[in-house]
Amino acid sequence: MSRSHDLFEAAQRHIPGGVNSPVRAFRGVGGDPVFFESASGPFAFDADGKRYIDYVGSWGPMILGHAHPEVLTAVRERLDKGLSFGAPTELETVIADKVCDLLPSVDMVRMVSSGTEATMSALRLARGYTGRDKIVKFEGCYHGHADSLLVKAGSGALTFGEPNSPGVPAALAELTITLRYNDIKQVRETFAQIGSEIACIIVEPVAGNMNCIPPVPGFLEGLREVCDQYGSVLIFDEVMTGFRVALGCAQGKFGITPDLTALGKVIGGGMPVGAFGGKKEIMSHLSPIGPVYQAGTLSGNPIAMAAGLKTLELISEPGFYDRLTAKVETLLKGLQERADAAGVPFSTNQAGGMFGLFFTADKVTNYEQATQCNQEHFKAFFHGMLERGVYLAPSAFEAGFVSIMHEDAHIQETLDAAAETFKAIAG
Ligand code: PMP
Repeated sequence: MSRSHDLFEAAQRHIPGGVNSPVRAFRGVGGDPVFFESASGPFAFDADGKRYIDYVGSWGPMILGHAHPEVLTAVRERLDKGLSFGAPTELETVIADKVCDLLPSVDMVRMVSSGTEATMSALRLARGYTGRDKIVKFEGCYHGHADSLLVKAGSGALTFGEPNSPGVPAALAELTITLRYNDIKQVRETFAQIGSEIACIIVEPVAGNMNCIPPVPGFLEGLREVCDQYGSVLIFDEVMTGFRVALGCAQGKFGITPDLTALGKVIGGGMPVGAFGGKKEIMSHLSPIGPVYQAGTLSGNPIAMAAGLKTLELISEPGFYDRLTAKVETLLKGLQERADAAGVPFSTNQAGGMFGLFFTADKVTNYEQATQCNQEHFKAFFHGMLERGVYLAPSAFEAGFVSIMHEDAHIQETLDAAAETFKAIAG
C-alpha cells in the first residue's frame, strides 16, 4: 500500500473526510487521494517520492510552476521582517497600484484572503450600492461557498433558487436567481420582468467550474448591456480566469468592462489571497469611506503580498501569455490526435492557460452538455494518467492548468501517457 493510503486513513480520524477542501478527497474518481510532499516547476512529488507532471497547479495559482526561485526569494526576504502586523504596509499599495495598472476597469481594489471572501464581499457591495437584494448567477458556475452563492440552478427564467447545501437559509436562497450559462435570451427575459430588483449579475467570464466552457459570442456583451439598461452591477468572478487567460484577464481578452471584479488564485502566487475591485464610484461605498462593511485580520498579509506581487511582475514579462497559450495548444492538439487514433470520443476547450477535456465528440458550450459526457471514460482516463505519472484534476467538472515551466518534453511525456491510456479505454 502507498504512503498516501496510510496518510489518508490517519487524516480521516480528525479531519472531516480527511481533507480540508472536499474535491481533494477523490470522491469524483474513486481511490485514495495523493498526498503531496513537495513540488518544483511542472512536477509534484507524492509522499512515496513518485513524480507527477502536475496539471492542477493548486487549482490555478501556480502559473509560474511550483517553487519558483524568484517568488521564494521574495517571500524569504519578507519573512524575517515579521509575519503579520494588522496595520498597513507599503507593499499593499504597490500591489494595488499594479492591479489597477493591469485592469483598466479597476480604480480601487481591496485585498482579502480567499476567492470566497472576494466574491462574497463584491456581492455585499453590489447589494449595498444598488439597495437591491436579488442576484443573478449561472448554472454550473462556482463562486466560492458564501451562502447566497451556494444555490442550485432552478429551471426556467423566473424559478427562484433552492439551497443546494443544508445550512443555507431558504429565505436567502430565494434571492438568488440561477440562469443558464451562455443563454443571453433567458437573461433578457428575466430582466424584462424583474430587472429593477436585481442588484447584480455575477459570472465566470470563462466558466471553469463545470470543466472549461468559454462564453459564446454575444453572451458577455449581452450581460453588459442588460446591466447598463437596468442599473445592475456586473461582477466578473475572475478568481480563476484572472491573470490565467490573459494578462488583462478575461475582461481584457473579450473586451468587456465589468463594474466589479473578483480575483484570487494567481494574484496570490500560491498564498491565501483574494481581491475585489472596480469602479471608484462603487468601491467608495466600502468601509471606512462608505457604509458597506468588510474587513480582515490577515487581509493584505505582507508575506502573501510579496508572493503575489512577484508573481504579477513575472507574468507581466512580454510574450508570457503567448508562450503559455502555445503550450496549452500543443497539449490539446496532441491529446485530440491520440484520442482520435484510439477511437475514443473526445473534445477540448481552451482559454489561454486553462483547458477542459470532455469525453464526448461534441464541442461543449453549456452545463447540460458538460454533465452528459462519459463519466466512466473520464475516471478511467484520470486513473490511467495518474498511474503513468500525470496529475489531472480529480473531477470531470474542473478546468486544467498549465504552467510556464511545462516544457515540450513534459508535454510529450504527457501525450505518450495519454496514447496508452486512450488505447486502454478503447479496449
Ligand atoms: N470563484 C471561482 C471562479 C473559483 O474558481 C473559486 C475556487 N475554485 C472561487 C471563487 C473560490 O475561491 P476560494 O476557493 O479561494 O475561496
